[in-house]
Amino acid sequence: MKYAIVERRDDISRNTAEKFHRIARDLGLIHDQQTPDVVVSIGGDGTMLHAFHSYLEQLDHVAFIGVHTGHLGFFADWKPGEVEILARLMAASGPHDPLRIVRYPIAEIRIETDSGTTTQLALNEFTVKGDSGMLVAQLNINDEPFEMFRGDGICISSPCGSTAYNKSLGGAIIHPSLETIQIAEIASINNRVYRTLGSSLLLPKHHHCDIYPKEGQKLLLNADHLTLPAAGVRSIRCMVSEKKISFARLRSFPFWTRVKDAFIDL
Ligand code: NAP
Ligand code: MN
Repeated sequence: MKYAIVERRDDISRNTAEKFHRIARDLGLIHDQQTPDVVVSIGGDGTMLHAFHSYLEQLDHVAFIGVHTGHLGFFADWKPGEVEILARLMAASGPHDPLRIVRYPIAEIRIETDSGTTTQLALNEFTVKGDSGMLVAQLNINDEPFEMFRGDGICISSPCGSTAYNKSLGGAIIHPSLETIQIAEIASINNRVYRTLGSSLLLPKHHHCDIYPKEGQKLLLNADHLTLPAAGVRSIRCMVSEKKISFARLRSFPFWTRVKDAFIDL
């Protein structure tokens, strides 16, 4: 088995990575940053976002695993003290006993600009905001006009991202077995003149939402921790991606337990 490591570059993460390399070498695991079978993210949820975007082109055959060197994360559920068990479980898997994988949906947008169309993927979410001031945009769902949005912006999240920015916006937490994206408003204006739905909504697979920003408006476009080029954007199509992220599931840690541990039993 070949593995790569993406780490947060603080002392604990660096030391944990070195420890993992030592144990992995003794167990016969092969370190390969270019074409790994498993990517071990060491740091926090933000580190997993980096790992995801570093191996975007290999999503179909790479599985991710997260070690948290700070607080318990949604993507990072192994403790630094457990890397030996982790490496042993990885080494024990093989052609006859493959790693257990869970595959979770991710969000996709197609950005149409004056100079062409690009496709982007997000593990957590995309946000569309006005660069200075409000975002004014027409929203269509499945090619039908839905609403005219005025406010700070719009957040389009995957189920994995529902516990991140989306949660701060009052969006629902979605179990990642559901193939859906959530569209949440960021401070929409609602009064006698301007009207939006006001609550977040879920789109199933094969539905799409198109965002048409008012012409001439400067936009801020984000995918996870990244800022995307936003010049000359005509429309943004949001949907559940055909691609998924694979996590190596070496032990059971139910999603709702994670939610409880992260937000309730602090
Ligand atoms: P950051 O500023 O360190 O992230 C903000 C917090 O979100 C961190 O505590 C991070 O955990 C946590 N987080 C990331 N993904 C999560 C998930 N899927 N479920 C629960 N918590 C999650 O920046 P970052 O680490 O680069 O992360 C970028 C993310 O920050 C974005 O994708 C967005 O979701 C989030 N964000 C949230 C707000 C908000 O809530 N108002 C605003 C902007 C961005 P770690 O400390 O373990 O990294
Ligand atoms: Mn972070």
